[in-house]
Amino acid sequence: MTEDNQAVEIIIDHDRCRYSMYDPLGCKKCLQVCGAAVFATRPVEKRDFSIPKEQRVDPTIWVLLTPWEDYCNGCGACIRACSYDAITIKIDGVSLLV
Ligand code: SF4
Ligand code: SF4
Repeated sequence: MTEDNQAVEIIIDHDRCRYSMYDPLGCKKCLQVCGAAVFATRPVEKRDFSIPKEQRVDPTIWVLLTPWEDYCNGCGACIRACSYDAITIKIDGVSLLV
């Protein structure tokens, strides 16, 4: 966790990110190197409101999320691990440089 309750914002550029749950060669490096377990994945939500809410996910397409970014310690390991320059981290509004 960062010091003095600093505000952490982790931005993933999903156009650049190569994460794919069903691609054996798909990238998951940021998840693997993050000791604080900030990252998570889940299936994509469908926007078809005609189907029941509990079925409104697509089990074949998953996305990478950062639901626990408050636990980020600013180590920068995920940024260094990302070969696609898809991660930006801001601490109190200032981009983390690694
Ligand atoms: S390391 Fe980069 S490309 Fe790989 S899953 Fe993480 S954000 Fe996506
Ligand atoms: S900077 Fe470090 S603690 Fe924060 S999300 Fe990246 S790997 Fe995890």
